[in-house]
Amino acid sequence: MREKKYIVGNWKMNGLASDLMQIGEINAFCRRHATVESAVCPPATLIARAAQVNTDIAIGAQDVHHEASGAHTGCMSAAMIKEAGARFSIIGHSERRADQHETNDMVAAKAAALKAADMGAILCVGETLETRDAGDAIDFVAAQLLASLPNGASSDWLTIAYEPVWAIGTGRVPENSDIADMHAALRAALASKIGANSENMRILYGGSVNGGNAAEILSLDNVDGALVGGASLTAEKFLPILQAAL
Ligand code: PEP
Repeated sequence: MREKKYIVGNWKMNGLASDLMQIGEINAFCRRHATVESAVCPPATLIARAAQVNTDIAIGAQDVHHEASGAHTGCMSAAMIKEAGARFSIIGHSERRADQHETNDMVAAKAAALKAADMGAILCVGETLETRDAGDAIDFVAAQLLASLPNGASSDWLTIAYEPVWAIGTGRVPENSDIADMHAALRAALASKIGANSENMRILYGGSVNGGNAAEILSLDNVDGALVGGASLTAEKFLPILQAAL
């Protein structure tokens, strides 16, 4: 567990240049408050402009290709997003696992590509409602994490995000005890693979976090921060989450 909470915004396929002022306000908040750490992942088109002026937060990408170059139309390598100004990338988001059929092996390869480029990664895992209702959530997510974990996983460059698929963008949030149980199980799974360094690896919760529920979620054991979608699109909605993390 780390002292400072880490609050990351994922803009998904939202945002034009006129929205960059939102990141500016988030950056200004973090300049004033050193007890919270934040990052925003705008669409790739805005990474360079966001990174040039917002230096009190990290700017990240939402995805990266696992290869360094080649015939992969529409994709971006780690070196490309790094040159644009991204310091890390989200990988394995459930929307990409579902829409782009990304497998655990592909996610592990993306993580390895980021590490090779000396960048960070936020690796997402999470169960569907069907798996939760079947009572298999913890076993499924722990196995998904271990199968997506790259060689050399370590807390200095890798962060985990637990995001139940059924909680993303739905306004539904698991019971606090379910979040705490999952995060403890993921910490134990990490320990089985990487040993004592698992204590320092950040495990974020994601799924319908907002200004009203952030304080409670962030106070749970083993919750080191939050990955936020919808409520990260405006400073008005995101700043109360940062406030709750101070
Ligand atoms: C996400 O997509 O990573 C996410 C957590 O979205 P939301 O906060 O909108 O549920």
